[in-house]
Amino acid sequence: CLLYSPVEGYYKTSPYEPVKVPNVPLHEYVWRDFKKWENKTAAVCVITDRQYTFAQMRDASAALAVRLQTKFKLAKPDVLAICLPNMPEYPIAALGAIEAGLAVTTINPVYTAEEIARQLNFSEAKFLVGSVGGFNTLREACQLTKKQIPIAVVRSTAQESLPAGAIDFMDLISTENVRYDELSVPKDASGTDMVFLPFSSGTTGLPKGVVLSHNNIGSNCEQVAGALPIDSLVFQDTLPAVLPFFHIYGLTVVMLSKLSLGCRLATMPAFKPDDFIKSLDHYQGSILNLVPPIALFMLNNPKLTPELCPSLRVVMTGAAPIGQQDVERFLQKQGYGMTEASPVVLMTAEGNTRYASCGVLPGSTEAKIVPLDGGDSKGVGAGSTGEFCVRGPQVMSGYLNNEEANELTFYPGGWLRTGDVAYFDEDGLFYITDRMKELIKVKGFQVPPAELEAVLRDHPKVLEAAVFGIPHELNGEAPRALVVLRQNEKATAEEIANYVAERVAHYKKLEGGVIFVDEVPKNPTGKIMRKDLKAKYSD
Ligand code: ATP
Ligand code: MG
Repeated sequence: CLLYSPVEGYYKTSPYEPVKVPNVPLHEYVWRDFKKWENKTAAVCVITDRQYTFAQMRDASAALAVRLQTKFKLAKPDVLAICLPNMPEYPIAALGAIEAGLAVTTINPVYTAEEIARQLNFSEAKFLVGSVGGFNTLREACQLTKKQIPIAVVRSTAQESLPAGAIDFMDLISTENVRYDELSVPKDASGTDMVFLPFSSGTTGLPKGVVLSHNNIGSNCEQVAGALPIDSLVFQDTLPAVLPFFHIYGLTVVMLSKLSLGCRLATMPAFKPDDFIKSLDHYQGSILNLVPPIALFMLNNPKLTPELCPSLRVVMTGAAPIGQQDVERFLQKQGYGMTEASPVVLMTAEGNTRYASCGVLPGSTEAKIVPLDGGDSKGVGAGSTGEFCVRGPQVMSGYLNNEEANELTFYPGGWLRTGDVAYFDEDGLFYITDRMKELIKVKGFQVPPAELEAVLRDHPKVLEAAVFGIPHELNGEAPRALVVLRQNEKATAEEIANYVAERVAHYKKLEGGVIFVDEVPKNPTGKIMRKDLKAKYSD
């Protein structure tokens, strides 16, 4: 194992021990301890109750690896695309492809044929795994690429019939008549090879393909495990896996890291309140990785009582900002990450009570805060805000085929520019205040929309809010708020705007007005799609 050694400097380092970069193929990392729990359940589908033990999952993915190599002649550096909702077969497809020496690109299963075709072309995928329900869209997408891409589909029940032209994924993972000795390991395999090509969420522009290596993801699993107290995770903890596996948070933090620790995944294809409640009550979910909308759902649903989920021990949120009061009410942990960093860059420590903080750096990670006006690129000290820049073994080598973005995204010395505004306090706890691209500029002042959203959410009648800038003749821009009121509440736009005006500096007032809506549009990981709001609600 390689030891990642941080360089001392003016910037912040992690309070944790450095992590060992696994430097083994990712499937070996995930399966390294599987013998300890081979007969326990690795994943169960909350809808159909179909399940695989660790031994079954390990064997099925090895069988897939053999067939991808021998029947389909796939080998490094080929890419396999997975376009599936969460289900127990997802990790089988991913780990099988990796064992065959392939890299995996993960596609959002609600994408249209055009969007899928774009990702297939961009990643040059040679094989596609999808669901029966998604088959027609996948076939259309493949036609658009004008390439012959074999499509294997997962049948989630024996009754589901195989669409004409599809390959039965269940045949590919069958352990009958497999010649495991036929599997060949690429001779020049290295920990720095690409293992996943996920895409960023596209919150601030088009989604970008992020090249992540075996070592990036393996290190991040080690970093996350190192920042969790030893006794907070025991094998056979159950994790309701509702965050999409195609997104880096679900992929690394939920799927790969938890399987490597012997936890059971209770998978759900989408967030549906009843299924989610079943994962906590029937399947006794004990650790929960959430995003803010699901955390808020839990807080506001009267059916969800502590008696319903007595096994629940660890609840953590990440991926998008959440109000301080909401954290205080029931979340033990908060984390911050991005696709470009596999994803975890910050996690709160055990017993944290600074609820607004996203925590400290995990092992082997360094960070500096660079003033927004460029200024001192060496970084500023505690209490000063600026762009959050990080480096560590979890940071990507770069975006695929995007030299322009790569140049903009890295500072010399391998510092990844996160594009987020942050500061750290005297104890090295970090606070994410906003995204640089989303700051609203009023008379030359920067107004962070997330700050105004937090003020709005503190209003007793307000359930949810989203703030963005609209053009303003005199001031350049003005903050406008979309507001969702709590059930049976009534309020006027003026009342809400006054509430904010009493609590913020004059230039942050909601000069752009307040619009009441039924729902704030968000993506599956809870991010407010501000560029869509601007397009829709700026008039
Ligand atoms: P794109 O880069 O394509 O515009 P994206 O940045 O939303 O999309 P992701 O990699 O999924 O794509 O998300 C990373 C971003 O999510 C971070 O840069 C940060 O803005 C936000 N984020 C993640 N965790 C938190 C958190 N705990 N609090 C606030 N923001 C967070
Ligand atoms: Mg981003």
